Amino acid sequence: MLNLSPLLMHAPGAPLEVQDEGLLQPAQELLDVDGLRLRGPLEWELTVVNTGGDDDFVVEGSVRGTAINECRRCLTDVDTDIEASFVYPMRYRPSDQPLVLDESLEDDDDVLVFGAPEVDFAAFLTQMIAIEQPLTVLCKPDCLGLNEEGVNLNEHPELVPEAVEDETPESPFAALRDIDLNA
Ligand SMILES: [Zn+2]
Repeated sequence: MLNLSPLLMHAPGAPLEVQDEGLLQPAQELLDVDGLRLRGPLEWELTVVNTGGDDDFVVEGSVRGTAINECRRCLTDVDTDIEASFVYPMRYRPSDQPLVLDESLEDDDDVLVFGAPEVDFAAFLTQMIAIEQPLTVLCKPDCLGLNEEGVNLNEHPELVPEAVEDETPESPFAALRDIDLNA
């Protein structure tokens, strides 16, 4: 929660900037929306600046956390440290709507629209981490993966099929050699 009411006072001497930082443990439904699993809370910092207009602001900040994804070969959990930095224009439109990233407004700029001075950034910060997740992860570069029975071969390397001895490129017709014509 960030209280932006000081920025909305428009009084002489009112602050032009609100800054805060903290830890966020996103609610499970927020994680589910973004398909995100986290190791520990997110560490965030936000600065909202009044850019001079009555309802125009800019938010600048960063969020850090550790996402958990499955290794694409062996499906064990892999931690990935993620840091996301962002700058967005913000606009105040009094309503009972939560903070929303409006991508339909003027130009190509996405605008964060908030409806009340008390702004809950939890969904936004969670989304910023989610979009920085790696598309796929490996637990290690030479992960052996699972065999056909679902056994993790990293834990049972003795089950790894014998490696092909000759890995030099062969003629494309070499593969035909192994075709069972009686099949
Ligand atoms: Zn793996």
